[in-house]
Formats: sequence, structure tokens, C-alpha cells
Amino acid sequence: GRGPYDPQNVFAKILRGEIPCKAIFENEWVLAFYDIAPKAPVHVLIIPKNPYVSFMDFSQTAPAEEIAGVMRATGQIALDLGLEENGYRLITNAGLHSGQEVPHFHIHLLGGKALPAFPA
Ligand code: 5GP
Repeated sequence: GRGPYDPQNVFAKILRGEIPCKAIFENEWVLAFYDIAPKAPVHVLIIPKNPYVSFMDFSQTAPAEEIAGVMRATGQIALDLGLEENGYRLITNAGLHSGQEVPHFHIHLLGGKALPAFPA
């Protein structure tokens, strides 16, 4: 989650339309699309359109309006997918110990089955 933003990361390429994704939601703040290697029946990634390396970068430098916009959109997507009744999980990996692979802040939205006990 530290260091400069790498504009060649895979989510930056998705945002620029250089590689395809299966998008399900877009607004002024976020793009959301299905994970290419789903870990649950529903596995969506919600990413800000602006370049933040990780949660630390986002939470500490994004304008409050943008933080609210990303959180509001994330909840809206869970609602739109019908996940509210049976529940869902949000995860964000930040930095080395988390195993974060893509250095563009993203929120995993997982649902559609009973998920393994945290922190699986
Ligand atoms: P991280 O480990 O960084 O929190 O999660 C990165 C996620 O991005 C992984 O779940 C991985 O499957 C997903 N991913 C990596 N490359 C692509 C891609 O090109 N397209 C999509 N849709 N997901 C990707």
C-alpha cells in the first residue's frame, strides 16, 4: 500500500478500457466488475476511478465526498445483487501481509453462499 501508483497495474488498464471486464455498476466514483477468479458464487470488485494504491492511500488521502461515494456505491451494489437478505462479506487487502496482488485499491464483495469462517 505504499509507494507511487503504478499506472500499468491491471485495474488501471481495465479503467482505461485496455483490457475487458464484466462490469456490473459504474458511477462518477467507482467501477465494479466480476472477479476473474471468483472465490464465491458472487465475487465482485469495487474500485475507485481515481488512482489509489491501497486502502491506506484511499482512506488517508481521498476527499471525504469520494470516500462516501465509494462506500455508498458498494452498499448499493450489494443491494442490487440481492445480497442483503442472506448477507455478504467485504474484504480489502492492503500491502504485503494481506497478499494484495493488484496495487489499485479495491473492495471484494463476496456472497451467494455461506462463507468460510473469518478470516478464511
Ligand atoms: P487482491 O489479492 O489484490 O486483493 O485481489 C485481486 C483480485 O483481482 C483477485 O481476486 C484476482 O482474481 C482479481 N483479478 C486479477 N486480475 C484480474 C483481471 O484481469 N480481471 C478481473 N476481473 N479480475 C482480476
